[in-house]
Amino acid sequence: GGDGGDPLLDGLNPQQREAVEYRGPALLIVAGAGSGKTSVLTRRIAGLLRSGEAFPSQILAITFTNKAAAEMRERVGHLVGRAADGMWISTFHSACVRILRREAENFGFKAGFTIYDSADTRVLLKRIIKELDADVLGFTPGNAGARISKLKNELGDVDSFARNMNVNDPNEVAFLEIFRRYTRELTSANAFDFDDLISQTVFLFRAFPHIAALYQRRFRHVLVDEYQDTNHAQYSLIRELTRPVPADVVARAGFDTPVRTGDGSIEGASLTVVGDSDQSIYAFRGADIRNIVEFERDFPGATVILLEQNYRSTQNILSAANAVISHNFDRKDKKLWTSVGDGDKIVGYTGYSGHDEAQFVADEIEKLHREGMPYSQMAVFYRTNAQTRALEEIFIRSALPYRVMGGTKFYERAEIKDAMAYLTAVVNPADALAIRRILNTPKRGIGPATETQLQSFADNAETSLREALRESGTLGFGPKVAGAIRTLSDLLDEASALAAEGKVSDVLTLLVTKSGLVDALRMSRDPQDEARAENIEELVAVTKEYERNNPDGTLIDFLTEVSLVAAADELDDSSGTVSLMTLHTAKGLEFDAVFLTGVEEELLPHKMSANEPGGPAEERRLFYVGITRARKKLHISLAMSRAQFGETAVAMPSRFLQEVPDELIEWRQSPGAARSRGGYGQGALNGPRGWKGPNNDRDGGFALPRAEKKVWPNAVTGTVRDNGDLELAAGDRIRHTDFGEGRVLAVTGEGTKRVAHVAFDAAGQKKLLIKIAPIEKL
Ligand code: ATP
Ligand code: MG
Repeated sequence: GGDGGDPLLDGLNPQQREAVEYRGPALLIVAGAGSGKTSVLTRRIAGLLRSGEAFPSQILAITFTNKAAAEMRERVGHLVGRAADGMWISTFHSACVRILRREAENFGFKAGFTIYDSADTRVLLKRIIKELDADVLGFTPGNAGARISKLKNELGDVDSFARNMNVNDPNEVAFLEIFRRYTRELTSANAFDFDDLISQTVFLFRAFPHIAALYQRRFRHVLVDEYQDTNHAQYSLIRELTRPVPADVVARAGFDTPVRTGDGSIEGASLTVVGDSDQSIYAFRGADIRNIVEFERDFPGATVILLEQNYRSTQNILSAANAVISHNFDRKDKKLWTSVGDGDKIVGYTGYSGHDEAQFVADEIEKLHREGMPYSQMAVFYRTNAQTRALEEIFIRSALPYRVMGGTKFYERAEIKDAMAYLTAVVNPADALAIRRILNTPKRGIGPATETQLQSFADNAETSLREALRESGTLGFGPKVAGAIRTLSDLLDEASALAAEGKVSDVLTLLVTKSGLVDALRMSRDPQDEARAENIEELVAVTKEYERNNPDGTLIDFLTEVSLVAAADELDDSSGTVSLMTLHTAKGLEFDAVFLTGVEEELLPHKMSANEPGGPAEERRLFYVGITRARKKLHISLAMSRAQFGETAVAMPSRFLQEVPDELIEWRQSPGAARSRGGYGQGALNGPRGWKGPNNDRDGGFALPRAEKKVWPNAVTGTVRDNGDLELAAGDRIRHTDFGEGRVLAVTGEGTKRVAHVAFDAAGQKKLLIKIAPIEKL
């Protein structure tokens, strides 16, 4: 560094500097992973603010996750202080929700609209498919939902689909009806699904130029990170936002800002996009690399800057990444390089099972941690969420602090969705999905027949289900049912009155206690229900934290925030935990040490990708994304057998492994894998290349590893095993089902979090979570 001590330009290379200082209509930065794209974007924003060229309110920065947005806001704040307040740094979805909440009433929606997540849309589609008997044609909530999503990402709607479809194809006709009903239900529920948030904003802008003009005038600088993953709807949104405002619209809107152009129009915003086509991993969701390729055509006069120096990883890691990605066709060859030196070799590991692989990961993490690397600087990646099970089981038993990003997210748990449905029913009484969800949760004797009766009353009277609850006294239900409905209806009214002035946490507490939701879980005999009750308490804690951070936040604001929480948002660097996440979630992040697990055929490349055009190439980009997250230490691991869908199957090494040059990687293997009967052992020592697969290994069928047959503690609830009361103290001898006998060195922590530090006679030192470790005292 040292360019005269300007914190904004210090240490930048000439291309980065040019990108920060560029002033003009359109700038495209294309560059490989870790070359400083996001950093440059951040400094551009800071530069615009510091020089006074833009007010914070005139800047719109789009990131891929809310977490990335928070990080960018913090970094800009770091560079320019309070001047960064009030800036819109957000995801496409959050930006659109803000616009829609403000403008909803202009096009027939109410500001309190609900945002349906994928679980909600599944429930809805399931019912529609059943009503139409469309399952016989092969429709499932999954495939119908994916198709609807794809259409919406192309800015399609029911009408455009109907115009273009083949009317003689019964499949198409059925799909049209599903799509139509789905759309109608969303509208009558005053709800948007995730894809609507973007496409409806585009439609709004196109239909109402004077509303679009408010935003076109306001945002003078639009900056987009991870541009390679924008789909057509998102691309269109950017186009709408950066359009000039024609003179007649300016005149009609009566804007009081001075217009700098001679003809009375307002210039389009300055647009900066940064991206890397090698990291495009959302084609399956409609992301379009052409958006990058065609940028210059779409934005004439655009400047293009290339960055080539990588500041994140060691040369060994970059060489592996370069070698792997060079196997994709149709790409501009670019070679990442660094000045930090080769660094350590990549470590490859072959486990005999998924659990064995997980044990390797856990042991390496402990080793790195002992050497001084914080847990928060380590991450474990996998292709599918199902792979977390083995990892979690081993991590829990090793008392390793970890956090799973995505997966069964907190907000996807049934009890949390129940509690959220109560809140939604208060804010958006039109939302029949929410009302249906809470109607008989907890059980209050309102069965399916009653629900149908209520619904048909609502349909006949052309009113909402919520209204039907109010009118239920006149519907001739028995006294018990009528009483239950009235109690629920009154509770919703009471909560809605409280919501008008009270705190979010008070409203939630009222709903979950008075409805009996928490009590029902508390009194249940199902041991998991206790954990569920605790989750609801956790939700109350979330609302309290929300109130501290957003003193003016309303219930609607809270629900909006929750529905936009993306997988990566739960990530918290300061928390001192190892991060577990899918490769998709890992995009844009960096860690000192990365563990890329399950690098096997069928997983990476995923077997689904084989049928998609461009599928394997996209999987390779995913592998490339994984590799390039690592700063210093990269571990690539796989297993010889893997338990999936309740079966243990032979796993084959991924074809991508052959693309990593031999001299960059050092292979290790578990003793179990070397001994096992399948004949993999020999070759595996030299890397997986020499392996014999099940096809050419006729006497195959090596012995199932012992560990696979045991009952493992349930990772999610931790309820299978409970040593809660086991008294342990330093000096005690214990026996562990896997590690054998050992001596307790110390016990730390309290209650359910007590950890025993044990020196095993054969297996070395381990930390165990006492509550669930498979141990007995001798
Ligand atoms: P990705 O493609 O993975 O999103 P990126 O191109 O956005 O990567 P950044 O995350 O901005 O890259 O930067 C990677 C790392 O390099 C960061 O830790 C950043 O602080 C650092 N970095 C960027 N530019 C420089 C520089 N000129 N000098 C030193 N470090 C830099
Ligand atoms: Mg980035």
